[in-house]
Amino acid sequence: MSKVRVRFAPSPTGFFHIGSARTALFNWLYARHTGGTFVLRIEDTDKNRNTPEALRVLLEGMKWMGMDWDEGPDVGGDYGPYFQSQRQPIYDEYLKKLTDAGRTYKKDGAIWFKLEGERYMTYDNYLKAEVEKVKAVPIVIEDEVRGRVERAEEMDFIIVRKDGNPGFHLVNVIDDITMGITHVIRGEDHLSNTSKHVELFDALGVTPPKFAHIPLILKEEGSGKMSKRDKGALIEEYESRGFLAVAVRNYISLLGWNPKDEREKMNIDEIIERFDFPGINKGNARFDEKKLSALNAEYLRELNIESFTFLARPLLNDAGAVSEDVDEDYLQAVLTLCQPKARSLETLSELCGYFFIDDFVMDEKAGSKIAKKSDPKELLSEILPVLENIKSFDADSLKSALETHAKSKDQKIFAYFPALRFATSGQGGGPDLLPMLAVMGHERVLARINRFIG
Ligand code: GLU
Repeated sequence: MSKVRVRFAPSPTGFFHIGSARTALFNWLYARHTGGTFVLRIEDTDKNRNTPEALRVLLEGMKWMGMDWDEGPDVGGDYGPYFQSQRQPIYDEYLKKLTDAGRTYKKDGAIWFKLEGERYMTYDNYLKAEVEKVKAVPIVIEDEVRGRVERAEEMDFIIVRKDGNPGFHLVNVIDDITMGITHVIRGEDHLSNTSKHVELFDALGVTPPKFAHIPLILKEEGSGKMSKRDKGALIEEYESRGFLAVAVRNYISLLGWNPKDEREKMNIDEIIERFDFPGINKGNARFDEKKLSALNAEYLRELNIESFTFLARPLLNDAGAVSEDVDEDYLQAVLTLCQPKARSLETLSELCGYFFIDDFVMDEKAGSKIAKKSDPKELLSEILPVLENIKSFDADSLKSALETHAKSKDQKIFAYFPALRFATSGQGGGPDLLPMLAVMGHERVLARINRFIG
């Protein structure tokens, strides 16, 4: 078998949509699985929409997800140029081949592709056929995912637009031919184009590549296809919301593919090893942010503290929880406590903001629950001198000092915990209390307790 060559052929729009990301990823995975070549080709024939910024969003998005390409606009390759806007001479040459073979004609300022043979009905006799109920013989596509698909192409179609620009069908097919593409992996919404493309391959005397049409991604609720307005649709949003690229990539690989067991969290080597066409589903995929968040949380908890801190910092900063000049050691100590409980980086400031903000919000509900048992101000006034006298303010010293005091009052140490936590964090729950107080530090803890007592 010839070496696999697949391509991702986006038309830059300024967004990196989850559907495009999935198409890119499946192509990349297939290339890496087979040891083939992954080509990035920019379908930029619509000049108004294709700005350098739109291209940047796309390339950055792909890189963020950890995809690399063997040939493409920035890395070059033997089959370039990789911008369609730079391939006009190639299109002219192939258009001439079609014209020489008698397969084109001009009508209303555009150039049309003429269907031929027993399979086809020409535009001219289309209406006649309608009357006589003649059916075109369908084209058969042996799709790698969908199996045998039959589609009849009944009408000639435009290949060069009125404005002189070659249309999508023509350039897409010529590029796949001239770039030696062996497998076209793209969204199911392109199935209706594929029969046209097969006609063009045939007319040019080239065996079409294999096709793999991957299922649509439906939005979270309802039956519609996910559009760029739907929450979770844009890759650049995940990045700014602090999702981990590995988690997003893992999740997207499961949109329409599954390795036929229950496992979801897989590292990239494993995904590459297992990824293949038989594992791609025929049925539609459905976007599920909960599942993505759960995967993300699993990956978050596995990060080493340095990486976790590095990633958390900008989000805590955006949320106003930490300033640029936050003490590095303090930040890392706090995050060491919070990481095991973190569900996302996006919500991290809710989880640990009080470590940094003295003016933290008091959870009144938790407050009144605590006050039901005993007056927290009284309890805290009682142990304040004990806390003041601790020499080295670590969890062990805190424990023994509080224990000694509790004993003298015929109390359990835990009797003081809820009030201590509430006064220093405004919360009813959180990380283990004594390590938490130790991280906050002597001064901060005393100041908070004093303020609480009033
Ligand atoms: N530019 C087309 C798109 O973005 C490419 C389709 C294909 O993969 O052939 O949908």
